[in-house]
Amino acid sequence: MSLTDNTSHPLVDRFGRTISYARIAVTARCNLRCSYCMSEEHECSPAPEHTLNTGDIELLIRILAETGVKKVRFTGGEPLLRNDIAELVRSAKQTKGIENVSLTTNGVLLHKHLDTLLGAGLDALNLSIDTLDRERYKAITRRDLFVQVKANLEALLASKAIPVKLNVVMMRGVNSDEIAEFMEFTRNHAVTVRFMELQPFDDHQIWRTGKFLGLDKIRELLRDAYPELLPHRGTSTEYFSFSLPGYEGSAAIIPAYTRNFCSQCNRIRITSGGSVISCLYDRQGMELLPLLRSSDAAEEVAALFRTAVRQKPEDGRNQGDGENRRTSMSEIGG
Ligand code: SAM
Ligand code: SF4
Repeated sequence: MSLTDNTSHPLVDRFGRTISYARIAVTARCNLRCSYCMSEEHECSPAPEHTLNTGDIELLIRILAETGVKKVRFTGGEPLLRNDIAELVRSAKQTKGIENVSLTTNGVLLHKHLDTLLGAGLDALNLSIDTLDRERYKAITRRDLFVQVKANLEALLASKAIPVKLNVVMMRGVNSDEIAEFMEFTRNHAVTVRFMELQPFDDHQIWRTGKFLGLDKIRELLRDAYPELLPHRGTSTEYFSFSLPGYEGSAAIIPAYTRNFCSQCNRIRITSGGSVISCLYDRQGMELLPLLRSSDAAEEVAALFRTAVRQKPEDGRNQGDGENRRTSMSEIGG
């Protein structure tokens, strides 16, 4: 039986896109300070009453599942800073209708959570690592934690338990010369390396400082290094997907800025502060935390999802100008 009558219809927007994938930022806090994401001083410790607790998230996922969401990704901030992260994964996996539960993490605390996450049924993990060089890692993230993250990545891959993708934000003059190192990493590791375009969401707008590297340039760098690249099909956001002959892993380019994926967008996002946003470029969002804690939460929250999805723009990039953009991906989880 559904939680309410209002919840049992799929979420479909004005342009016929069915929403089946929810990205939930479970915290805004982070143990790194990636230069393209947040400043050293970035404020990310909201009061507990403005944070989604375990029960809030579990209920939220039940309501999302009732409205047709099948896939959930936990992100942040850094989701492994939550001690209940494995509990959240387990509960999401046990929610009727949810078919896939994944996580995006910087991997710093993976050694503490890996066994319980796998035991809870986690289906897939994306680990963000923009360089394979310790000093560069320190410069990009402002923390000297490369050795820990690399060890955690190796342990995760050695487990061969779930598909793993590496998120690598490409920046001119920062890590653009490391394409071959990352490709070499795929030789003996069954991992997909995702070379990602920088997006215009950060306190200091570093994407305006000449570090942006677009799809065409990334592809050119790849082709220069590997003329024998074999393109193959990737997921809908993986624009250019390929592998090297005989290599265990593969790679892809995610042109999050220069290519427009809006027409295929099936996503809804929940921010760490408990708002729902129907589009990455939507700055405001609609507050759902008070509704989630009300007596008829299921009805009210499902109605809010419908309103949010009705407002989903056909093309998010036409929404507002630079002034209106978020100042960090950490609130919305990328
Ligand atoms: N802390 C976790 C992590 O870093 O994986 C999860 C949250 S983080 C906001 C999710 C993803 O967004 C990461 O892969 C990160 O590299 C990416 N990201 C953050 N700011 C970005 C930006 N300005 N442009 C492109 N990607 C960005
Ligand atoms: Fe933290 Fe992830 Fe942002 Fe880096 S990208 S500062 S790890 S939230």
